[in-house]
Amino acid sequence: GRTAALRARMEERLLAARFRYINQQLYTSSSREAAQLFRDDPEAFQIYHRGFTQQVERWPENPVERIVRALRRRPSSLVVADFGCGDCKLAKSIKNRVHSFDLVPLSPQVTVCDMAKVPLADESVDVAVFCLALMGTNLQEILEEANRVLKPRGTLMVAEVASRFEDMRAFMSAMAQLGFKSVSKDLSSAFFHLLEFSKTGSPRGRPVPGLRLRPCLYKRR
Ligand code: SAH
Repeated sequence: GRTAALRARMEERLLAARFRYINQQLYTSSSREAAQLFRDDPEAFQIYHRGFTQQVERWPENPVERIVRALRRRPSSLVVADFGCGDCKLAKSIKNRVHSFDLVPLSPQVTVCDMAKVPLADESVDVAVFCLALMGTNLQEILEEANRVLKPRGTLMVAEVASRFEDMRAFMSAMAQLGFKSVSKDLSSAFFHLLEFSKTGSPRGRPVPGLRLRPCLYKRR
């Protein structure tokens, strides 16, 4: 009885610590290094995803639901690419054709790849989604990839943890340089921001210094 409960508590602590460690690695390495991390240690992904799910469950609303609602208001003929899809909540909740990309297949719908290099043709999707998935330090490369696969005037939706934005104006101006015009900014949740952009053109291919997001590190509980 008591030893089993103690062991369960210890195991829970250990998993929580591993989650925080993996999470920190994901936010402080490039998307290629993240891909390598999960290739070397497939168990790490299970631990990461479990921790991530528990974290978001504490929030009053999951941002995926907000994105689902926004997409349901638009034609279901729009083709969607979900970068860092996790367990494919988006693909499972809308009628649209959804290309779901992640490093590890939590569901059979997932195409395994690094989001900095997705197997889609240029200008082939109407909507690109990053829901709590802009993790790599090579943020510019990742957003350039989204720009590449988006059709002209296509939509980019970004949901990110509010505290990651250290300078919203610099971020928005960097996005403009990457060919994304701001369409709407929903800053109403204390937990996440929901930003919508429209593709105006191709990136200029120069480094964009204002494009920075703080890593999202979780505290020990
Ligand atoms: N969008 C989902 C999952 C968010 S968790 C949701 O909101 O529920 C972030 C996801 O991004 C994780 O599943 C993680 O594996 C994935 N990810 C992180 N870096 C990635 C990369 N370089 N390429 C593809 N997916 C990546």
